[in-house]
Amino acid sequence: MQIYEGKASFKGIAIGKIAELKQASAVVRRVHVDDVEAEIARYQAAKEQAAAELMALKEKAEKEVGEAQAEIFEVHAMFLDDFDDSVENIIREQSVNAEYAVAATGDNTAEMLAAMDDNPYMQARQTDVKDVANRVIRDMNGGSQDSGTFTEQVILVANDLAPSETVQLDKSKVLAFVTREGSTNSHTAILARTMNIPALCQTPVPEDAEGKMGIVDGFAGVVYVDPDEETMTKYRNLQKEEEEKAELLREYKGKETVTKSGRKIKLYANIGGIGDLNFVKENDAAGIGLFRSEFLYLENSDFPTEEEQFKAYKTVVEMMAGKEVVVRTLDIGADKQIDYFKLDKEENPALGYRAIRICLTREEIFRTQLRALYRASAFGHLDIMFPMITSVWEVERAKKIAEEVRAELTAQNVPFKEVPLGIMIETPAAVLIADELAELVDFFSIGTNDLTQYTLAIDRQNQHLDRFFDAHHPAVLRAIKMTIEAGHRHNTWVGICGELGADQELTEKFVEWGIDELSMSPGSILPVRKIICEMD
Ligand code: PEP
Ligand code: MG
Repeated sequence: MQIYEGKASFKGIAIGKIAELKQASAVVRRVHVDDVEAEIARYQAAKEQAAAELMALKEKAEKEVGEAQAEIFEVHAMFLDDFDDSVENIIREQSVNAEYAVAATGDNTAEMLAAMDDNPYMQARQTDVKDVANRVIRDMNGGSQDSGTFTEQVILVANDLAPSETVQLDKSKVLAFVTREGSTNSHTAILARTMNIPALCQTPVPEDAEGKMGIVDGFAGVVYVDPDEETMTKYRNLQKEEEEKAELLREYKGKETVTKSGRKIKLYANIGGIGDLNFVKENDAAGIGLFRSEFLYLENSDFPTEEEQFKAYKTVVEMMAGKEVVVRTLDIGADKQIDYFKLDKEENPALGYRAIRICLTREEIFRTQLRALYRASAFGHLDIMFPMITSVWEVERAKKIAEEVRAELTAQNVPFKEVPLGIMIETPAAVLIADELAELVDFFSIGTNDLTQYTLAIDRQNQHLDRFFDAHHPAVLRAIKMTIEAGHRHNTWVGICGELGADQELTEKFVEWGIDELSMSPGSILPVRKIICEMD
C-alpha cells in the first residue's frame, strides 16, 4: 500500500480503480526506419482506430449536447482523411517513423490554417487539427482513452485539469478527482464540488498507479494506492457512515429554509450547465443563484450561436419550472481561456481582460447572449447578472445594451418577460461604491472567490499561496457585511454565490447580517438548510 498526501478541495470518500487522464501527447521523436511499408501499415491501423473513436465521440456528443456541437467531430474526421498523402509521403521520402510524420503533418496543416486570414472559421481549427494528430499518435502507442469515455467508474488522476477538459468528462464515470498540481480555489475544484465528489489537488500519485485500486479520503486529503485489507474495511465503513449522514440530511428535502423566528432565506444552487440540473433537483434547491454561462462557451469549439444559447437557457428555466434562475453573462478570461476568442497573452490575466470588460469591448458577443437570454425569459423566471463590475458606467452601459436588445426584440415581435438585472460584487471597488450601484440594479450577488482574491491581492490559482488565501479574513467578512447593508439601504436584495456561501462556519453570521440568498454547490444545500432551520 502506498500513501500520498495532498490538499482536499472537496470532502467525501471514494473507492475504486485509478485511471490516469491522458492529456497532451508526449514529445514525438524523429527516428529512422528501414521498413517504410510496415510503418505506413502502423499509421493506417491507428488511423482506423482514431476514426472509430471520433464516430463514438460524435454519437456521445449528439446525445449529451446536441447535434450542432457534435459536428466538430465530423470536422475532425475530415482532417483525419486528409492526412494520408502527407503522412505517407513523409514516411517514404524521409524513412522516418509514423509518429513523426503524423506530428509534422499536424503542425504543417495547423500552420496552413493559421494563414487563412480570410476564413476565421478555418483559422480557428488549428487546435482541432493538432488534436487529431495527437489522437493518431496516442493510438499508435498503445491506444488512447478519451477523457470522456471510461467504461467503468474511476478515480481520475491528472497533472492538472483545465476547465475545458473537465467539461468534456463523462461525469457519471468519475468517483473522485486527484490532480498533482492545481489549487483548491480553481474552477476544477469548484466543478468537483458541484458534482458532489471528493477532489484532491497537489497530490503526487505516480503514473504507474493506473489501473490499481485506490481510496481517496477527501477529509484527510490522502490517497491510498493498493490499500491493504484493513484500510479497505475502515474506508468501506466510513463510506457507509457518510451515506447514513446523507440519508439523515434528506429529511430536510422538501422543507422550507426558514429560521424558527420565521426569516426565510433563498437557498439556491450554482450550476455550469444543463448536466448539473439533476444535482439541483436531487438536493432540492429553491432556484439557481449562479448559472456560469461561460461553460457553454468552454464546451464549444466556436462561439455558440444565439439559437444554441437560447435552447440551453430555455431548457434550464423550463426544467426549473418557474423557480428563479440567475444567469451570469459570460465570465471568460483569467483562468478560463478559450482559443477561439483569440485573447492576447497578458502579464496579469486576473487583472486583465475578462468578463464584463470583454462584453463591453466586443459588444456583438454580448448582444448575442442577451438576445438569447431575453428570448428564454419568456419560458420561466430568469434574471440576468453581470460579473466583475468595478464602475457605475459599466452597469449603465450594460443596461443600455440590454435595453437596445429589448427594443430590437419588440420590433421583431419576439416575446420576452420583465427580467431583473443584477451584478456580482466581487471587487473591492464594487463594495466601496455599493450604494451607487444598488440604485441601478435589482440584486447583488457577492462573488467571494474573486472578492477574496482581489481584496487580499492573492492569485486564487496560485497553489503556493493557499496558506495566505484566507476567505475568513476580517477584510473579506467586513466587505460582505458592508455590501449587505448597502444593498438593503436601496431595497436591493443581496446574496452570496461564491464558495463562502456554502461555508457552514459562517452560515449563522450571514443570516444575522441579513443575507437574502445563499447560492452554492448543490451538495451543500441540505446541510446549510439544517443550520438555518435550527436558528432562532
Ligand atoms: C466568485 O468569484 O466568487 C464567483 C462566484 O465567480 P467565479 O468563481 O466563477 O469567478
Ligand atoms: Mg468571480
